Amino acid sequence: MMAAKCPICGKPSTAEYAPFCSKRCADIDLAHWLRGDYRIPAEPASENIPEE
Ligand SMILES: [Zn+2]
Repeated sequence: MMAAKCPICGKPSTAEYAPFCSKRCADIDLAHWLRGDYRIPAEPASENIPEE
């Protein structure tokens, strides 16, 4: 059940470069991380902590 798509270009991901479709997309994603382009869309921890 490999329904995953490449998060970079949307093509079906391959087992070799999962979750990406190719080394190129994996490199692009890695470059984004290294440059800090990605923000973690998780809970806003800093704003959710009661100061008590
Ligand atoms: Zn791709």
